[in-house]
Amino acid sequence: RAKRLRGHSYAIFDDRQDHTSHHLIDLEPELWKALQQQEFTLFYQPRVCLRSGEICGAEALIRWQHPERGLITPDTFIPIAERSGLIVPIGYWVIERAGRDLKRLTAAGLQGHLGVNLSFRQFQDGYLANTIERLIQQQDINTSMLEFELTETALFSDEHHVRQCMETLGALGVEFSLDDFGTGYSSFSMLQKLPISTLKIDKSFVAGIGQNSDDEEIVRTIISLAKNLQKKVIAEGVETPQQLAFLQHLNCPLAQGYAFSPPVDLDTFLELLNQPNLL
Ligand code: C2E
Ligand code: CA
Ligand code: CA
Ligand code: CA
Repeated sequence: RAKRLRGHSYAIFDDRQDHTSHHLIDLEPELWKALQQQEFTLFYQPRVCLRSGEICGAEALIRWQHPERGLITPDTFIPIAERSGLIVPIGYWVIERAGRDLKRLTAAGLQGHLGVNLSFRQFQDGYLANTIERLIQQQDINTSMLEFELTETALFSDEHHVRQCMETLGALGVEFSLDDFGTGYSSFSMLQKLPISTLKIDKSFVAGIGQNSDDEEIVRTIISLAKNLQKKVIAEGVETPQQLAFLQHLNCPLAQGYAFSPPVDLDTFLELLNQPNLL
């Protein structure tokens, strides 16, 4: 569990330590070390076609394989990496690794897109598009399968620069999706102006299916908005049969969630690809 201290310092309270010692570990230098010592890894969560149950794409999600503390999920360290700017080199590492893994995934038959998360902070690097372009060339990444997942905050950081980056990368065949859709501030005009091909329905709305009629209405609205704007749509965080049935009834084409599979390591994902139907 990360706890915010003063200013830029954060700490983790290690459950396995003696609680009275309040053993604090400052994460920022630890993150640098983790990057240099290759302690990060990527997990993959399938995107499932709600008609056939087949895997159609995946999302890459970073994990920190800490030598003593085990597997650490990104909510603990991505916000710190964003604040310190370390997200820039970490983000390039993610793209490089995703590009490498994509070769094995396509060889094993993966279809659809591989979603890679891009933080709004990464756009603060003026060379973002050029650097990604270089990585794509160096790694010979199949851009027709590459999709960057952006949140609505990214689009607001510096509209002109963000749009330029998106256009440069879009020209290479890369697609963009809007992550956590519905929780931010996107306007309809932005959806038209920017090259966004997919909306990802935030899991908080999916969680309300069967519980809250407003959430159900929002899910319904996002799906029809996507259809009307000729964009693809993916529901996130599908956990229950009831949520699944609701989404299938609305003809939502794709979904991710624990109902199908949590994010898993590459080898486990490669095995999942052998399964004909995840429904
Ligand atoms: P996100 O992009 O919205 O990713 C979806 C999160 O929902 C993931 O958490 C995933 O494990 C989780 N999830 C998947 N299915 C379910 C479900 O059925 N129910 C629930 N409750 N959760 C589900 P994770 O892997 O812990 O990642 C958290 C966030 O960290 C991500 O949210 C994303 O914002 C960020 N992140 C992860 N990897 C990267 C990365 O490589 N780069 C950047 N910049 N951010 C990343
Ligand atoms: Ca995402
Ligand atoms: Ca999301
Ligand atoms: Ca999120």
